[in-house]
Amino acid sequence: MKSLQTLIISAILLVSFSCAKSTVDGREYQIGAYLWFQTSGEYRALCHQAYNLARLKLDRDLEEKHNGKRAVVFDIDETVLDNSFSGAYEIKNNIPWDQESFDRWVALKKAELVPGAKEFIDYAISKRVEVIFISNRKESQKEDTLENFKRVGLTAKKENLYFFNGDWSKESRRFEVLKKYHVALYFGDNLGDFAKDWDSKTSESRRALVDARKEDFGDKFIVLPNPLYGDWEKSLPKFNMKSDLLKTIP
Ligand SMILES: [Mg+2]
Repeated sequence: MKSLQTLIISAILLVSFSCAKSTVDGREYQIGAYLWFQTSGEYRALCHQAYNLARLKLDRDLEEKHNGKRAVVFDIDETVLDNSFSGAYEIKNNIPWDQESFDRWVALKKAELVPGAKEFIDYAISKRVEVIFISNRKESQKEDTLENFKRVGLTAKKENLYFFNGDWSKESRRFEVLKKYHVALYFGDNLGDFAKDWDSKTSESRRALVDARKEDFGDKFIVLPNPLYGDWEKSLPKFNMKSDLLKTIP
């Protein structure tokens, strides 16, 4: 019995090790990003800058005539809610990221606010603008998310939560929203929060597409800073988080 247990534990360790190896060697490379995110004034300043600019843009939109009810569309994680505590716990304990650990974190309902998000959302609601959330959190996580929102003072309607529907791309959910509303602004920390153009692209194409749509940033698209994780990691060849890809002095 004991040897069976040992065998099972070894198998689990081997699988965990292979998973970690298939992505990155440990998560030490993320410490700087987490420290910046959690401690720098610059992180907070960028968030306020994003939400202050958004308010100006919403005011402009409110002066214009549009068909349909007006809405603003938000991603949730690292756009409205700060989940950095969960990732920081994993890094300190050398745990690789996985969906289960994120699900356990969501169930705790302990995420905090991204600076500026609540003030902007309250402002939008005061102007009778519908606040929509398109997130890849699971359908089963709607109640926990709403409770977390409530704990940090955010108001949201359950019917305005468009959660993961089997498609990681948010494009079809954006279309669903556009059938009902005039969308004044989109908010996100990941380019896939804005348009499908950036779904599953190489880092080079992602950057070129940002330049091609530069007029939209700070106008229709409001970007929040997130150096912790994102599709930018997956777009690197073989998820290479070592110095091999750094551009240095020629
Ligand atoms: Mg996000």
